[in-house]
Amino acid sequence: MYGGQPQTIKVVLLGEGRVGKTSLAQRYVRSSFNEGQAATVQAAFFTKAVRVQGQEIEVALWDTAGQEKFHSLGPIYYRDAHAALLVFDITDTDSFKRVKRWVDELHAMAGERCQLVIAANKQDLQHRSVSEEEAQEFAASQGAAYFQTSAKTGLGLEELFTALLSSVLDSL
Ligand code: GDP
Ligand code: MG
Repeated sequence: MYGGQPQTIKVVLLGEGRVGKTSLAQRYVRSSFNEGQAATVQAAFFTKAVRVQGQEIEVALWDTAGQEKFHSLGPIYYRDAHAALLVFDITDTDSFKRVKRWVDELHAMAGERCQLVIAANKQDLQHRSVSEEEAQEFAASQGAAYFQTSAKTGLGLEELFTALLSSVLDSL
């Protein structure tokens, strides 16, 4: 590259409604958290410029517009995604049970090289209902990287994105 546009890395957010996808995007991109995060009603798109492995990168984070209810985000959402960040809520067993459906949808819709990262979100809450062991084991069985996160405190997010972006860069 001769000092042109920075490389854009497309990351799509996946997971059930209310698990914290929009909140994680806001926390990562804007360092903010909104307790009463409104349900996303429009397709949202966040970008952030970062430096990884000495390279300028633009992260394009694609957020859903509430279509996750129907488990079908459409081909444009997945097109050319470098990575998927699949989120579940550790206080919501159903959101964990449905992770497999999102993995299946990802495999059906995204290219083979799309990397998968699973985020066990809302780690700041005490009433956990999904065990850490079970979640980690599942992620490993899917060949996915696994991180514990909190959009509220910011826990795990820098580590998650650093690992995700490095891994995508290595694969290019
Ligand atoms: P989305 O539907 O997956 O985009 O979820 P939202 O980002 O809209 O979050 C749903 C609700 O969970 C909102 O009330 C958020 O404030 C809350 N929330 C999201 N992430 C966290 C977190 O890490 N910890 C806590 N305590 N609440 C969170
Ligand atoms: Mg949302």
